[in-house]
Parts: sequence; structure tokens; C-alpha cells
Amino acid sequence: MSRFWSDVVHTLTPYVPGEQPKLENLVKLNTNENPYGPSPKVLEAIRDAAQDTLRLYPDPNADLLRNAIAASQGGHGISPRQVFVGNGSDEVLAVAFQALLKHRRPLLFPDITYSFYPVYCALYGIDYQQVPLDDGFQIRLRDYDRPRGGIIFPNPNAPTGRWLTLEEIEGLLEANPDTPVVIDEAYADFGCASSAGLIQRHPNLLVVHTLSKGRGLAGLRLGYALGDAGLIEAMDRVKNSFNSYPVDRLAMAGAIAAMEDRDYFERTRHAVMASRERLAADLARLGFEVLPSAANFLFVRHPDRDGAGLAAGLRQRSIIVRHFQAPRIDAFLRITIGTDVQCRALVEALEAMLR
Ligand SMILES: *Cc1c(COP(=O)(O)O)cnc(C)c1O
Repeated sequence: MSRFWSDVVHTLTPYVPGEQPKLENLVKLNTNENPYGPSPKVLEAIRDAAQDTLRLYPDPNADLLRNAIAASQGGHGISPRQVFVGNGSDEVLAVAFQALLKHRRPLLFPDITYSFYPVYCALYGIDYQQVPLDDGFQIRLRDYDRPRGGIIFPNPNAPTGRWLTLEEIEGLLEANPDTPVVIDEAYADFGCASSAGLIQRHPNLLVVHTLSKGRGLAGLRLGYALGDAGLIEAMDRVKNSFNSYPVDRLAMAGAIAAMEDRDYFERTRHAVMASRERLAADLARLGFEVLPSAANFLFVRHPDRDGAGLAAGLRQRSIIVRHFQAPRIDAFLRITIGTDVQCRALVEALEAMLR
């Protein structure tokens, strides 16, 4: 603490990211990184971009990247004017909170969800209410029918992995034509349908994606949002009042290559999904309750063991998973899907601990 702090700093409770240990040889299953990493074409593009041109500022509008993202969205006919890019989707979300989610009525999000949301609300002075998940840890959309200035949740939700169908999302949008709705699709690459196509019919919908999970680029920091050009204009106004160049030249080159290498993306995301199903079966065999997941992680609990103890025991065996010391979910572990070798190491460690 120092007497030079602005007043607001005293009130902040910052988000605590999962640990990034400096040790090697850990089986690191705690922050939902992709075990396969980026496409080799991404690395090549970044190497090619590492040149004398780094003395020049990047394109502040990131036009080539917006074009590549728009073109990668399949048959949805998305135009570059419906794309916003930022330094990781956390930054994209921060801009959306400021540009679209601060209203007289409270922002609604689930009680169990991405814990960055209340942090942004505190930073930007946004009133919010947390809507409880049901007993099966699922979002119950009819509970969002209450006074609201906006709605945000991840689909699939984090850290549960449970998801809503496209029909359910569309129903929510139809019931809320006058409310901005942000769907954080950080994990939608792993099996649940993206709502990106709905932006053409629903000018209140913003869909947020990241290259950190599905494209194996957590270290590059690239996220984007898709929405009506009116929403994107609001976000550009906030961004251009804060940082004109959030996406640097290397990130731009790498991200374009990542969006263009469809084959690599398809292969690796299907490998993760197949490993998830095998791991879910192995954990169920060990007696764990495994929530259904369309993400690159599983949310599991054991009827006879507490979550903190299991996480500590795994750590002693050089395996790290995420445990949240939070109401309703402190019995759970969130386990990132690793390679099959990593998953096997996890299952063997748990087997030994439960014996
Ligand atoms: C990982 C994650 C993000 C942030 O991703 P970055 O692009 O790495 O900032 C956003 N939302 C949810 C729900 C996430 O799990």
C-alpha cells in the first residue's frame, strides 16, 4: 500500500489466474491450455514477421486479421465490420463490459461462472446480480427473466463445462430483444454449437472467442468478438480511447495463420474431445461424479474425498489441477484435458491416492 494510490485501487479485488509454475516436468492441467500448441504455420508466420518492420506501429484497425476472422466463420456471411479484436479475450470482455454492459439496471450472470466478471464490474462500477445455477450446475434461462441491464455467461460455462444448445440461446435472444447479451465462447471449439451465426438476426448479441484454448495460443494473447456493426463501433470507441494498438505485429501474423489453418484446428480439437471422453470414463470408473462437458476440461468430484485434499495430493505427485475454494463447488476439481499420456498419469495418480 502507498499513500499515492487512487481511491478505487483500495476497493479492487483482482482476478487470480491459475498458477503458472516455474518448475519443469509438471503435468500442468490447471489453466485449460491446449496440449497440442499452435499450428506449425503459426510459428512460421511469427518468425517471418520478426523483422525490421517491428519499428513501425501495427495496423490500429487490424484489418487483415479482421478479414481472416470474418472469413473463418463458415457460411455465416460475417463482415469485417462485425469483428472486434483485442489482446486476449479478457481484454475484449473488458471493453465489452465498459462499452455495452454498464446500465441503470444490473448485469446478470451465473453465481458459478468465470470469476473475472465480478472483477470487471468492480473496476467499471457496474451493478450486477448473480443468478444461481440449478442443482445440476446448469444455467436455467427462465431465471434471467428479471430486471436487467445486460446478460453475460460463457457457453460452455466455466468452470462447469455444461452448455446450452443453440435453440436455447436463440430463445434467450428472442425473449430479450432490448437487452445486450454477451456469450463468452472461450470453449465453444470443443463441441458445443457457436452462436456466431445468430448475430445477423440479433443486433443485441455479442459473441466472444479466444485463440488461447482451441487454437493453442494462450501465450500470444488474441481474442475477438463478433456482433452487429453497431456493437462493434461502441467497442472500437472504447478501445481507441484506451490503446490504439492492442494487437502487435507478431500476434497479428500468428493469429491470421491460426485462423487459416483449418486442418490443424480440426485435428487437434477433435483429439482433445476424444481424450476428454476417455478421461471422463476413467474418472467415472474411479467413482468420480463427472459433469457433462463440452469444454477442454472436466469438472469432477469424489463422494468420499474433499477437493482441496485431492488437489494437494496430486500436486505432491507433480500434477496440478484447479481447485476453487468457493461456495457450492469446493468439492470439485477442474481438470484440463491434456495429452493422453498426461491424462494417464493423472488417472494413475488418482488410483494410487484412492486405494
Ligand atoms: C480462458 C477464458 C477466457 C480468456 O481467454 P484469453 O483470451 O486467454 O484472455 C475468457 N473467458 C473464459 C470463460 C475463459 O475460460
